[in-house]
Amino acid sequence: MRWGDAFRQRLGWRLFASYLVVVFVGTAVLAATAEFHMPAALSRHVARMQALVGDDPALVQDLYETYRDAVNEILFVAASAAGGTAIGISLFTTRRIVGPIREMMWASRRIAAGDYRMRVVEIGADELGELARAFNRMAETLEQTEQRRLALIGDVAHELRTPLASIRALIEGVVDGVLPADPATFLEVQREISRLQRLADDLVELSRAETGEIALEFSSVDIRALIARVVGRLRPQFDAKGVMLRMAVPEELPSLQADENRVVQILTNLLGNALQYTPSGGRVTVRAWVEADELRIAVEDTGIGIAPEHLPHIFERFYRVDRSRSRSGGGSGIGLTIARHLVEAHGGRIWAASEGVGRGSTFTMAFPLSGSTASPEPVRD
Ligand code: ADP
Repeated sequence: MRWGDAFRQRLGWRLFASYLVVVFVGTAVLAATAEFHMPAALSRHVARMQALVGDDPALVQDLYETYRDAVNEILFVAASAAGGTAIGISLFTTRRIVGPIREMMWASRRIAAGDYRMRVVEIGADELGELARAFNRMAETLEQTEQRRLALIGDVAHELRTPLASIRALIEGVVDGVLPADPATFLEVQREISRLQRLADDLVELSRAETGEIALEFSSVDIRALIARVVGRLRPQFDAKGVMLRMAVPEELPSLQADENRVVQILTNLLGNALQYTPSGGRVTVRAWVEADELRIAVEDTGIGIAPEHLPHIFERFYRVDRSRSRSGGGSGIGLTIARHLVEAHGGRIWAASEGVGRGSTFTMAFPLSGSTASPEPVRD
């Protein structure tokens, strides 16, 4: 039973056995055919030679036996040669087929044990080469996922540490009598707790967005009406800070197939940032237009701007240009990451542009329009 199991578990042995079976069957068929044809062939031969050797039955019998021995000997030599070839070919095939499979088996065990850097050698254009390439692609994805997971844990721990340290310092101050136990102190504590709460909410949203779990409910959206609604809702906050909020959207815009609530969420986020990073006396403009078969919405501000070296990173999670400033404003550095995921889930793109520090920023999102013909230019003032 053990031998049987070992045999079944070894592909090399099974390949070798299959070659031997072919050799055996081939030899058996040859032998049977020779046996079957021999009497007829011999009697024809003897009939032709009768004139020379006479009609001696002993001689005929001797001829028959000699002929059969010769055939058997030839068959034996041929079968041995074929058996040897089978061994050679199975050794070669085993190295060529079983070798890479074993390597992948070993690599997959290492990956399962947590070594995500494992890769296998990609040789040949055949199915085995294709399998090795697919294996390496899978390993690469696993490695990236693992790196993202580790980075996320590090980032989250870092983000939690700051508000927790503040709360701890405030409470210790009260306990030690350094800080008064008055509403102002507790208001500070409450602010830090709100920050933690917001962070937790943002993290849930981020993880859902990153794993593609946010289900979009598409409908035909009137973008002009949507922008007007969001602008109207946020206007009081802009007025309170003394930042002008304007809309520059043409009357005629094609409707967009999108998840209305998500577009509202993205726009609210961009306008919230624009308000936060624009000092009073500044101006924020929301534009919408059609370009290159896309419906584009831009939020343009005259605020603090973004230095060129930060621009490529601001959509990365937890990235803040000015850590202390943004944090004191309650920003978690996740808003733009979520916005990017949501726009991309619509098949769109989002990008930022800025002339530099102190020269304002423009955030533009582009949603693909399918089958639209109208193409109004952006409204310029
Ligand atoms: P936060 O919650 O910190 O605002 P975001 O992901 O929304 O996080 O933004 C990331 C960073 O991008 C911000 O911390 C800020 O430094 C920068 N940023 C975003 N919007 C603007 C803007 N309108 N003007 C200048 N900087 C901006």
